[in-house]
Order: sequence, then structure tokens, then C-alpha cells
Amino acid sequence: MSRQVKNLWRLPTMASYQGQYLYMALTLVLALLIIAWTGHHYVEETAEEHIARIASRTTAQEQVARLQQQLQDIEQWLGQQLIEPGSSPGSELEDMLNELDSSFRRLAASIPGFNQAIPAGLPSLDLPGLRSETMAFLHVSHDNSLRFPGIHIMRAYMQPRSRAVMDSLDNIIYQASDDDRDNGYSRLAYRARHTWQQLLSEFRLLVANRFSVFSDTAQDGMTSRSYNVELYLEKMRALLERLQHTPPPDAFLPLPDDAWQQMESDIGQWESHYLQLLASLRSSKWRQDLYLFKTSLQPRITGMKAHLDRLQNHLNEQASRDITALTGSASRLSQAILLIALTGMILILGAYYYLKIRVIKPMSDTAHALRQEANGDSRVVVPTPKLKETRDLVEAFGEMRRQVIKREQGLDHLAHHDPLTQLPNRLLFKDRLEHALQIAARHNQMISCLFLDLDNFKQINDTLGHFAGDELLITVARRLRKVVRRADTIARLGGDEFAILLEDIQRKTFARNIAQKILAALQKPYLINDQEFHITASIGIAIAPYDDNQSDDLLRDADAAMYEAKRRGKNNYQFFTSELLRRANRQLDLEQRLRRGVQNNELLYHYQPIINTRTGQLLAVEALMRWQPEEGELLYPSEFMDALKKFNLELRNRLDEQMSVQINRLQETALKRHGIALRVAVNMSPSVLRDPSRHRDTIDSITNMKFPSLINLEITEDTLMEDLTNARALLGELRELGIPLSLDDFGTGQSSLNHLRTFPFDSIKIDREFVRNLTSGSEDAILVQAIVQLAHSFNMKVVAEGVETEEQKTYLMNIGCDYLQGYLISRPLPEQELLEFLRRFRDSG
Ligand code: C2E
Ligand code: CA
Ligand code: CA
Repeated sequence: MSRQVKNLWRLPTMASYQGQYLYMALTLVLALLIIAWTGHHYVEETAEEHIARIASRTTAQEQVARLQQQLQDIEQWLGQQLIEPGSSPGSELEDMLNELDSSFRRLAASIPGFNQAIPAGLPSLDLPGLRSETMAFLHVSHDNSLRFPGIHIMRAYMQPRSRAVMDSLDNIIYQASDDDRDNGYSRLAYRARHTWQQLLSEFRLLVANRFSVFSDTAQDGMTSRSYNVELYLEKMRALLERLQHTPPPDAFLPLPDDAWQQMESDIGQWESHYLQLLASLRSSKWRQDLYLFKTSLQPRITGMKAHLDRLQNHLNEQASRDITALTGSASRLSQAILLIALTGMILILGAYYYLKIRVIKPMSDTAHALRQEANGDSRVVVPTPKLKETRDLVEAFGEMRRQVIKREQGLDHLAHHDPLTQLPNRLLFKDRLEHALQIAARHNQMISCLFLDLDNFKQINDTLGHFAGDELLITVARRLRKVVRRADTIARLGGDEFAILLEDIQRKTFARNIAQKILAALQKPYLINDQEFHITASIGIAIAPYDDNQSDDLLRDADAAMYEAKRRGKNNYQFFTSELLRRANRQLDLEQRLRRGVQNNELLYHYQPIINTRTGQLLAVEALMRWQPEEGELLYPSEFMDALKKFNLELRNRLDEQMSVQINRLQETALKRHGIALRVAVNMSPSVLRDPSRHRDTIDSITNMKFPSLINLEITEDTLMEDLTNARALLGELRELGIPLSLDDFGTGQSSLNHLRTFPFDSIKIDREFVRNLTSGSEDAILVQAIVQLAHSFNMKVVAEGVETEEQKTYLMNIGCDYLQGYLISRPLPEQELLEFLRRFRDSG
């Protein structure tokens, strides 16, 4: 148990299916784990990264939009300021710029790694620059003179000159007006003053033109006005020239010498400032706030907006890139899953091919080789597989093969030999016989088959026990071996039957010699358990090809000859004759007819009376079986008893029942008709004793009879001797039931009365052989007298059989024989005749 557990936990090597499977499975699991973990990790990471990026980007996008809006607001505010300078307080702009600042900072914070994530140029969102420029703009727009540099020129330089010119001309006109004559001087002066006034109004129109709402035509208007101004300047100068050279009126106070020069200088200076102003008005800088706005602020804001646009685009691009990446990661995940599935499939395919190449093929190769070998191809080399399990299997097969061969040989020996004597058995004997017959036929040779049966072996077996019986058989076998040639076969066919095959004999006499030698060899005394005893055998001899040339037939012939030897008194040999065969066939035929006879209820009893020797009283009748076939004569037991022994159990029981019915009927009639309680002696079949399974049936069939207490049983001495053990059991039981027992045919067997005394016999029946020779003084007479005396000493009665003469009767009476049976008293009689006999017997008695 603990070893098994240990084995379970020991890692298998790569040289086993288990190991290869384990390591392959581990590799597969590991690969799948790695792929799954990597895929999971990758997807999680990308998803996290994208979610973070999306979150920060959304904030960034919001901030960018806000920045754009704020810039837009600032630009609008500045535009408003251009139209209505000073309409909004500067603090408002300050707030907007601050907000812009904080928005920018938030944007920067919302994009981690701002500088890397944002394309170059974003740092040029120069907020301090914007701030200082707007401040400058604000400063200019709040100061008109800074806003319009031309107004300063007009106020500071041009206005004083034009007033000076005007004053000078007014002074001239004033002096000349006293002279109320038309001398043209004052007219000239008036004309000059008028021209100057016209010039100034033209100039004012020119300036107005600049500021005019008709800004589209401002330059054109200015050009025509400036042309007029030039013209008036020229006319002015011409008029002043004429005036200078015109004599003034009398009353006219002479003008200071430099007055004209002064006026000319004033006009000249005015003109130069006028030209300066004109240039200023014509340039883009005529309005400084607009200039500042257009040249630096607006481009700056536009640039910033563009940057923000680009940033927004960049963020959008990033967003779409992230979406692509996300979908990319999703598709990569599905690819990974596909990869896992593919890997699994490849591994499964690999495993399949591996199994096919490394496992199934070697196994089927091995199986093929083993099958070939099993079919008897000894050249086959069973491959030694590399893997442990298959190798184990092959080795186990090999071991099994060896064991099978060994056992086969053992079984073969067992199947063909007798385990006790080690002699060939019937099977092998028939095999050899057949073989020998073939050879003999081919070479025109003669062979002989001897059938040997030990005489009275059962008796020895029963008396001395099975161990001694076995010893005896072994010794017999040994003696047999010594007698025959080495090439001849001796077999034990079973029990005390032996068969001997003599091959290639020249003459019949050779078989005869061997038979004689065997009889002689077996006759010698045997010493078993320190006890000496003798045994003889009966031998039947058959010769091929004369008697038969088939093994079964030859053996049957020898068997029949052996029976003949037994019949002729045992301890001899007999050659088979065709007469024996005929007899055997007749026997077979008889058996069949007898079977039908039983079925047709053709068997019947004749009854022979047994009487008391001295009183002549009837003791009993003995039931003797007869067979009256439908056609033909009455047959006696000697003619059909052997055939009866071959009956099966069913037929035997049927017969028993038929015979019981007859006895019942007889006893009933005897009682009714003659008032006689007729005792009937029945002969017990030898086969009943031998077969303990039939004891119960026998007892039952007796107890089931009408008058069981009127039944006697007779058992022959031979039957008893055949199986003493079984006999003792059955007889004891019968005795207990109160059934009187007789020992029949006493004196023919080998038993001694002393020996039989231990059996519960009430009487012995002396065989008629002894009675026949009963004449005073003869050997048999002395023997019978001794038997009677001995029987009496054992408290047994004696019945004499076959009493035919008065002489015999007298002698038997004299020696004290108790009962008589024989023709002298009566022949066995059919039922009706017996009843008649009983009537007469009663009447005479
Ligand atoms: P067994 O038991 O010794 O029977 C006596 C035999 O002697 C009978 O022969 C009988 O007819 C014959 N016998 C009687 N008196 C004389 C005589 O004065 N002179 C001569 N020569 N013979 C006499 P059976 O009827 O032919 O019977 C022969 C044997 O057959 C019997 O010998 C008995 O062993 C056996 N047998 C007869 N009937 C049965 C039976 O129903 N069952 C069994 N198992 N055996 C039976
Ligand atoms: Ca008898
Ligand atoms: Ca008898």
C-alpha cells in the first residue's frame, strides 16, 4: 500500500507514456498560461493607458477650446477698444489676461509630459509678450496724441503759423481800410486773407477726409484736397508778392521791413509741417493704436490661435490614434485568442501524431510480431519498444508465452499421462496405436494390442485402503515395463485396466509369450505395508491387421477378449475371436431389447420357496427375475443380468417400481386368499452397493412397499467384497430398519466367515455348488458342516441353496442346516403357481 503511494508520487520518466504525457501536458498548460497571462496583461495595460490618456486629453481639449475662446474674447475686446477707445476699463483686459494665464497653466497640467506630447511651437504661446503688447496698445489708445500723431503736428506747429499769417493779414487790412478809395491794395489784402482762409478750410477737409467715414476713398479725397492746398499756397504767395510791390495807401503805416519775410517764413514753416502731416496721414501709422493692433497684436493672437488649432488637431489626431490603438489592441486580443486556439490545435495534432508514432505504431508493431509468433512463425523478432509501458507489456507477453508453453507442456503431459504411474493414458495410447497401425499398414507389419484387467482389484483396494491400491498399481506398472520391449507402449486406461501395444511382431506367438510373461510377473507376491498378498490379471489379445485395423476396434476387440478371460475364470489370457465379437454384438442387441422389455413391462418375478429343514414350514420365497419377451421364450437372469447393469438410473428406478408392484400384489393376495404373511427375499443389485447416491432410493423403495417388514435382502459375497466400506454403511442402515439380511452365494468368494462376522447378517446362503457335491465324507460336505457350525457360533442361520435330492436334504438336516431351497422343494414359480403352491402347502400343513 505504502509502496503504491510512493510510486504514485514518484515522477515518471520521459521513457514512459505517463512521463511523456505529463511533461507534454505541463508544457501545454504552461504555454497556454503564458499566452493567456500575456494577453490579459497586455489588454489591461493598454486599456488603462488609453483610459488615462483619454481622460487627460479630454481635459486638454476643453482647456484648448477655452483658451481659444479667451483669445477670441481678448481680440474682440481689443476691436471694441479700436472703435471706442476707453469705452471699457483696462482692468477688464487685465482679468482676461489672468484667466488666459490660468487656463494655459491648467492645459499644461492636463497633459503630462507637456513638451513631448505637444508639437513644437506651443511654447511660443508667448503670454507675457501678449500681455505687454496689449498694455502698450491700451496706453496708446487712451492718449489721443499718441493715437493720432498728426494732431500734435497740427496743434503744436501748424496752428500758430496759420494764426500768425492771419494776424498779419488782418493788420494789413485794418490799416488799409481807412483809406476809402479804391486803390486795390486793400482788395489785394482781402483777397490774400480769403485765400488763406480757403487754404485752411481745404486743409481741414483734408484732415476730415482722413477721419471721414468714407474711409475707402480717404486717400483719393486727401489727394484732391492736398492739390487744392498746394494751389492755394501758390496763390497765397503770388498775392503776397503783388501786395508787397503794390504801394500802400497814404494813411497806411509803413510795415516793418521784416514783416513780409516773417509772413513768408510762417507760410513756409506751415507748409513744411503740412507736408510732414500729410506724409503722416498718408502712412499706416496715421493711427497708432490701429497700427499696433494690426502689425503686432492681431498677428500674435492669430498665431496663438493657429497654435491652439494645431494643438487641437494634434489632440484630435491623438484621439483617433488612440481609438485606432484601442481597436488595434482588441484585434490583437482576438489574434491572441486565435493564436491560443491555433497553438492548442497544433499541440493536439502534435499529440495525435506523437501518439501515432510513439505509442500506437510500436504497439501495433509489437502486437503484429506477437501475433505472428503466436501463429508459429519462430523467425519473428518481437521488437523491444523504447517506452516503459510497451516494453513492460512485451516482457509480460514474453513471460506469459513462456509460462503458457511450460504449462502447455505440463498440460500435455497431464493430458496424456496417468499421474499415478506416469504411464501414457488412454488418449496417448490411442494416438500411438493409430500411428502404429498406419506404419504397420504401410510396411505390412503385424501389431498386437493387449487389454489387461487386474482380478479382484477392488477387493484389495477396499481391504487395504487406497494408498496400498495405488502402491500396487505402481508396482504393477513397474513389472509390466520390465516385461515388454522399450519401444512398446504400456498405458493405464483407468482403474485397474492397462493396455499394451506391441509393434512389429513377427508371429502371433510373440503376443502369447508376452501375455504369459506378464501373468507370471504379476503373480509374484507383493509386499505392501509389510503385508504380502497376491493378485492376478486377465488379458485379452487382439492382432492387427487380422482382427481389425482401426485403433478403436482393436482396443474393443482386446477388451472383449479380456472379458472372455474373466469369464473363463480370470488369471489367463484369451485371443480375440470373431465369436467374441458376435457375442458382444448380441449383448448390445440384447440390451436394446431389454430396455424395450422394461418399457413394455415384460419383466416379472418367479418365486422359489425356502422352508425350515426340520419342520418343513415355509420361511419365505425368493424373488427371482424373469423376462418374458412378447415373442420368444422365457429368459433367465444369467442371460440378461449383464445387460440390466447397463441401465441408466431412470430405467432402473422404473424397473424397481414394476417389481415392487408385483411383490406388493403377491403379498396382498397371499394374505387375503390364504392368510399367509408371505416373506419375500429380494436380491440386491451389486450396483446399488457401489453407488452411495442410490442407497437412499433403495431404502425408500423398501419402506414404500406395502409390507416392508416382510422383505428380506440377499447380497452376494462378491458384491459385498467389491466395496466393503459402502456396504457397511448401507447394511447398517437397513439393519436398523429391521430388514433381515442374507449373505448370498457364500463360499464362492475369498472372504472368511470370521471376516464377515462384523457385518449384520441374519443368515448366510451356502452356494449350490457346495450343495451339489454333498455326499458324506466329501470335501465339500466337511466344508459345509464347518460353515454351518461357524455361522451358528456367530448367531447366524444357514440356508442351503440348490437342494435337489433327498440325500442332500438328509445330510443338511443332520449337520443342522436351518433352511432349504431347491428344486426338491419347488422350482421358482410364477405368481399364480406360487399362490396355488401356497394353498396346497397350507392345506397339507
Ligand atoms: P441366486 O440368488 O443364487 O438364486 C438362486 C438360483 O439357483 C436361481 O437361479 C434358481 O433358479 C437356482 N436354483 C434354485 N434351486 C435350484 C436347484 O435345486 N438346482 C439348480 N441347479 N438351481 C437351483 P436363477 O433364477 O437363474 O437366478 C440366477 C441368479 O440371478 C440368482 O442367483 C441371483 O443372483 C440372480 N438374480 C435372480 N433374480 C434376481 C433379481 O431379481 N435381482 C438380482 N439382483 N439378481 C437376481
Ligand atoms: Ca439369491
Ligand atoms: Ca445364491
